[in-house]
Order: sequence, then structure tokens, then C-alpha cells
Amino acid sequence: MTKTFEIAVFEGDGIGPEIMAPTVDILKNIASHSNSYAFNFNTLPAGAAHYAKTGESLPETSLAGARKADAILLSAMGLPDVRYPDGTEISPQIELRKAFGLFAGVRPVRLSAGQASPLNLPEGREIDFVLIRESTEGLFYSQGRGEVSEDEATETLRITRDVSEKLFRFAFDLAATRKKNGRGPGRVTCVDKANVFRAFAFFREIFDDISHSHPDLIADHAYVDATALWMVQKPWEFDVLVTENMFGDILSDLGAGLMGGLGLAPSADIGLQQAVFQPCHGSAPDIAGRGVANPHAMILSAAMMLDWLAVKHDNAAMAQDGRRLREAVEDVVARADSLTRDLGGVAGTKEAADAVLRLLKRE
Ligand code: ATP
Repeated sequence: MTKTFEIAVFEGDGIGPEIMAPTVDILKNIASHSNSYAFNFNTLPAGAAHYAKTGESLPETSLAGARKADAILLSAMGLPDVRYPDGTEISPQIELRKAFGLFAGVRPVRLSAGQASPLNLPEGREIDFVLIRESTEGLFYSQGRGEVSEDEATETLRITRDVSEKLFRFAFDLAATRKKNGRGPGRVTCVDKANVFRAFAFFREIFDDISHSHPDLIADHAYVDATALWMVQKPWEFDVLVTENMFGDILSDLGAGLMGGLGLAPSADIGLQQAVFQPCHGSAPDIAGRGVANPHAMILSAAMMLDWLAVKHDNAAMAQDGRRLREAVEDVVARADSLTRDLGGVAGTKEAADAVLRLLKRE
């Protein structure tokens, strides 16, 4: 029986709509070959351009539409010149994170053999790990709450047992799924600074407690500074890394750098019910409207959506399609087929997305 999934679509600002359109086309194409699932896409208004027009960045109706959707696809949002009266940027993606309790920021770091990268990977080595960034508390808890006087400034980092437990359970479940699919040894590394801060000793203690429920998986620890070093020196050794919000913010850009740039870095913000899938990059206003943006981070985020829906709804065909889509993008990039300018090529957005579609159709 075919199950229809409702997908909320936020097209976003700048290059957002340009990379969303081919991504939705690819998803429609994939689903048209399945008899176990179908998609119904529902485009919802939000973002900086919408705010400039209406004074609302995330209308209540859009929030409600996203809440009842099976998954949320979100392109890049925000424009440098459009701001709230207090000077902060329009970022409905952060509002969605808070509204839906999307505690797990999932950032896969993938580099297949042959793919160009700033690293000189030893022959035969590939990178395939996932960084999970806690996305609702940590140092970002302090956003808007910092205290500044003439002589000092203070920001507070917050770690709660409740969110940490959910985060670590998610990390171990992800490592188990990866292990089952032949990706990684089933190792979860807690990245912290427990040697200096009590909050991180607390974080680590909760990690250790949760790890006891997963005797079949490997649990280990690493300090954040050493992790930055090892991400450059031996990134192939990582499987699942889980860390606090600010550390994750920084390490995930390092991860994007290893892959050759933001144009290839997908992400997901996942909670207990909802999940948002979006590229790591911003709305790139400097290249918007020219049809030259790299669509691959958005397409890879759509592949993550297929993976997540597949696990949640126990749909093996969808899991396979998620893998096919990811591998198609990886193949296209590894063969330097129709690369966009950010990757050293000359292709436009449509040409790059068409290369993925061609490969999917050929299989
Ligand atoms: P934000 O703070 O909203 O994440 P940002 O200031 O980090 O945004 P981006 O919008 O991500 O900036 O852009 C950074 C640079 O990367 C810009 O030069 C932009 O053109 C380029 N860039 C970002 N995304 C893409 C893409 N998909 N394809 C090609 N270039 C991109």
C-alpha cells in the first residue's frame, strides 16, 4: 500500500528557491517509481523576503503547517539587509528548532575516494562520520541573555540532564543504524572539555550512563581541541561524534571544509517528533538569481530526509532510495561531472542537478 507523506517546504531567501526547485523535482521523480510511498509537497511562506513584505518572518499558519507535516524541507534563509528592529537576522530555522525541540543537529561528513578535498587522504581512505551538535542549549542558551557592563561580559552555558539524555540516546541509535548498514564500527565519541569545566564533566557522566544501555556499541571520549586536530589528521577513524552546541557549531564548519566547502554539506535538525532538513550554507545573496548555486547540499539534505522517514516508518524501499540519492550525488562529484563554480567547475544549478537525475534514471 502506498503511504503519502506530507512534506512542508520552505523555499527560503537568496539562492534558496533556486536549489529547492530541482531538489523537489528529484524527490518527485524518485517517489514516482515507488509503490510504497508518495509525497505531497506543501510550500509555506517564511524568511527574510517574506518579513520585508509582511512584517512576519514565520507566520503562525506556516508554523502550524510545519508542525503537522511528516517532515520539513528548508532551504537557506536570511538576508543581510533585512533585520528585526533590534538588529538581529531573520532566522525562522532557529525558531523552528526551539518550537519543535529539535535537539539533535546532524551533520554528516563524507568524502569518498577520488573526491577533491583540501586534505591529502592516504590511498584508499574515505571519510564517513556524523557530527551531532546539540542544538537547543549549551552556550547558545545564552543567546540574548548575555550580561555586559562597562568592564565585563558574561554568557552562561547550560547543559540539562533531560536534553542530554535524549541527545545521547539519539547518538547511540544512529551508530546502531549505521553499523547495521555497514557504515562504521558502532562507535560514539562524546566530545567535551570535561578536564576543565564542571558542566562538561556532567555532560560526560550522562553520556556514560546512557552508554551502559548499549553494550554492543563502543563509547569513548575526546576533548574538543584534540578532536579538531584529529578531524584533520585522521578523520577516517571517527564514526558518530556527539557534542555541545557551540563546539558543534565550530566543528561542523571544519567538517564542511574537509568535504571541499559548504556547497556539499547537508544537515538535519531532529527532535522526537519533527525534523527539519536543510543545507549548512546560508542564502548566498552574492550569487542569488544567477542560476549558479550548487544544489548538492540541498539534495543531500533531501536524501537525509528519506533516511529519517524510512527509519521512522520502517520503509525499506525509502531507505534504499535515500542511499541511492546520496550515492548519486557522491558519484557525480567524484567524477567531476557538471560541477558548479564553488567546486571548480562551470556548471549552473540546473546542470548540476540534472547530472544527479540522469544517474538515478540510468540505474
Ligand atoms: P549564514 O550566516 O546565513 O549561514 P554565511 O554568511 O555563512 O550565511 P553563505 O550564505 O553560506 O554565508 O555564503 C558564504 C559563501 O559561500 C558565499 O560566497 C556564497 O556565495 C558561497 N555559497 C554558499 N552556499 C553556496 C552554494 N550552494 N553554492 C555556491 N556557493 C555557495
